[in-house]
Amino acid sequence: MFDTIIIGAGFAGSVLAERLATQEQKRVLVIDKRRHIGGNCYDCFDEQGVLIHQYGPHLFHTDNKDVFDYLSQFTEWRNYQHEVLAFIDGQMVPAPFNLQAIEQLFPPALAASLTAKLLAVYGYGKKVPILELRQQDDAELKFLADFIYNKLFVNYTAKQWGMKPEEISPEVTGRVPVHISRDNRYFQDKYQVVPKHGYTKIFENLLQHPNISLMLNTDFNSVMQFNPGTGALQLFDTPFKGELIYTGLIDELFGYRFGELPYRSLHFDFEHLQQEFFQAATTVNYPNDYDYTRITEFKRLSGQTVNGTTIVKEYPQAYDRHDPSKNIPYYPIFTEENAQRFAQYQTFAQRFNNITLVGRLAENRYYDMDDMVARALDVFAARASNSG
Ligand code: FAD
Ligand code: UDP
Repeated sequence: MFDTIIIGAGFAGSVLAERLATQEQKRVLVIDKRRHIGGNCYDCFDEQGVLIHQYGPHLFHTDNKDVFDYLSQFTEWRNYQHEVLAFIDGQMVPAPFNLQAIEQLFPPALAASLTAKLLAVYGYGKKVPILELRQQDDAELKFLADFIYNKLFVNYTAKQWGMKPEEISPEVTGRVPVHISRDNRYFQDKYQVVPKHGYTKIFENLLQHPNISLMLNTDFNSVMQFNPGTGALQLFDTPFKGELIYTGLIDELFGYRFGELPYRSLHFDFEHLQQEFFQAATTVNYPNDYDYTRITEFKRLSGQTVNGTTIVKEYPQAYDRHDPSKNIPYYPIFTEENAQRFAQYQTFAQRFNNITLVGRLAENRYYDMDDMVARALDVFAARASNSG
């Protein structure tokens, strides 16, 4: 009945479903264990009518015109440039840390000297990962690097990952480099937008084709069997000879045969407040105070005019697949050891040419939404060129 079964209705699964159905007239079954589509990008209105992001704030930003044009078929956009403040030493300073943060936190003569040195060494506009800045020999720059490392990164990273910045892949803290600039935006990408009617609408539009069937509230394991010896698949006890596109956890698919890959989970605490606005920016990071990492105020990013305001506090926590309050694997943990374990799974996966692994969890990658869409489009293009 189906040519392709896709596990997961996030961006990886939904973009591939759309491509297969509309470009190749494939009959596609999309299965997701959640009660809704959209994966972690799902948004909805809370009881007070505020558009919230159920699984954490999602800001779309990209330099990839193809991705932007592709998604523009499924939504209108609202221009929005994200700004984040970090609460450091009693002050709200821009994050990523930049020249303005230096001027706010240090006496004028020291700030001027630090700025002059940064401009001389790196030039205006340069982005410098904190672990790179710490390599500087100059005493003043070293002081600055240690300050930023200690006040912005160490405690935030301890909360978020349970690790020191240098214990995790440099790519992670490198996402928020020190910016030798007075540009206070969190991202500098060419396209920075939010979907005018929310993310979930994008997914409804991606999945609306008559060739696409949806089975929500359904765990893959409850309706399909996979035999890792032979690669054989069954759907409801009937052999399934088509292709499986799997966007869930790779270690779960392969029965944890090489051990569990580690993930980081989150607990979200939403609060609705009877006031117009709660804070001075959409997101405020709290590296050194409280157990949460950041607070996001949704109406600042959606532009909604609504009574009251809804905020969310993000509390990182250990992932535990057996505990329903901790069993959402938001982030793969990117360490050398885990990369090696993942590589074992990846090698094993190559035995099965009826299975395609794509997605943040299946590929153990820190994909942002735009990278995820780009990757799904690439996977589709590669399949199309292989088959014809
Ligand atoms: P997901 O969205 O996780 O979708 C996977 C789906 O598979 C889920 O719906 C899950 O229920 C389903 N599934 C898994 N296992 C099974 C199973 N056994 N049976 C059935 N279904 C299953 N990106 C940005 O660009 N900007 C941001 O600001 C941003 N903020 C983020 C904030 C947080 C807190 C997080 C966690 C991520 C953020 N991202 C952001 C990244 C973005 O969420 C991902 O790029 C995107 O969701 C990846 O899509 P995906 O399809 O791989 O995964
Ligand atoms: N980070 C930090 N302090 C901050 C912001 C970020 O230490 O104020 C580090 C932290 O390790 C975090 C990483 O940089 O996990 C990436 O931050 P980003 O905002 O990109 O995280 P995401 O939105 O993906 O959770």
